[in-house]
Amino acid sequence: MRVGIGYDVHPLVPGRPLVLGGVTVPYPQGLLGHSDGDALIHAIVDGLLGAAALGDIGQHFPSSDPRYRGISSLWLLDETRGLLEARRWRVTGVDATIVAERPLLSPFIPTMRERLAETLRLPLDRVSVKATTTNGLGFIGRGEGIAAQAVATLEEFNDAGF
Ligand code: MG
Repeated sequence: MRVGIGYDVHPLVPGRPLVLGGVTVPYPQGLLGHSDGDALIHAIVDGLLGAAALGDIGQHFPSSDPRYRGISSLWLLDETRGLLEARRWRVTGVDATIVAERPLLSPFIPTMRERLAETLRLPLDRVSVKATTTNGLGFIGRGEGIAAQAVATLEEFNDAGF
């Protein structure tokens, strides 16, 4: 079994949809980024790549590449799952925390888990998403950005698929 960790931060700006875990959360600001800015999925992708020692999201999906402009990060997650499977790694679990002062994310977490589990082809009980605040401290507390952390586990499979 392998374990990887991922971390990401994006600035909150007006005029962008707020997308986290593949879910559009109603809010007057959204995350700035080359893709849809989904910091939660980016942290998960980095956790998955880290578990297989396959570098980071920027190496596989460079922001200089126009193909990834405005792309749904769920697609990046699906690509990452495929890339791991091609190297005989099966995703076995994800646990993540979103750090955001606003908006209240708990109503959206069940749908985020469903989208992530579906994309990773995992049962729901192997995908955990949590949310917390910084109690007003720092750039997150001031509402200037949103961060996410994730841990992912992988197992190797053999030719028979086990
Ligand atoms: Mg990112």
